[in-house]
Amino acid sequence: YGDSSQKIDYVFKIVLIGDSAVGKSQILARFARNEFSLDSKATIGVEFQTRTLVIEHKSVKAQIWDTAGQERYRAVTSAYYRGAVGAMLVYDITKRQTFDHIPRWLEELRSHADKNIVIILIGNKSDLEDQRAVPTEDAKEFAQKEGLFFLETSALESTNVESAFLTVLTEIFNIVN
Ligand code: GDP
Ligand code: MG
Repeated sequence: YGDSSQKIDYVFKIVLIGDSAVGKSQILARFARNEFSLDSKATIGVEFQTRTLVIEHKSVKAQIWDTAGQERYRAVTSAYYRGAVGAMLVYDITKRQTFDHIPRWLEELRSHADKNIVIILIGNKSDLEDQRAVPTEDAKEFAQKEGLFFLETSALESTNVESAFLTVLTEIFNIVN
């Protein structure tokens, strides 16, 4: 989880987007600090968190931006997307509406961000299988059609969170190398 003395070869900005309460902040807390909290507080203030990893013997600092309660449609400003080389588009597998809003988020992302941005679609809360409202196949099909990576995660159980970030970071790394 990061060593402040090491030299940094790359800094990659990644943005988290998606409807409110899908688990963006908890995904970030899990990845950056290996923490999780079940009581939902709206995101406060903090613009981004970082974690440094090693990819192919290079140190890569992931700078991950979290929306500070700006999830209303079109409320995320272009400054948020500026310089982003990766994006995580998150929905909640137990809330169909959060998946139905994904095309809007994708449109917003594509209108603000660099056209080569690496995007992963994430169905979070996979631990709540008994409340599932979005079939995995639907999301997989959508991701394939739009050229996105796709994974289901659980920030609570720590499933696939690391893989999701590594997928994006490795793809970006391969593009710049
Ligand atoms: P955000 O608004 O997208 O940032 O969502 P939060 O990260 O604040 O999470 C909203 C609520 O969902 C909180 O009560 C979290 O504890 C809960 N949550 C987040 N991720 C998961 C998960 O993977 N599984 C379950 N069961 N709950 C989660
Ligand atoms: Mg949040």
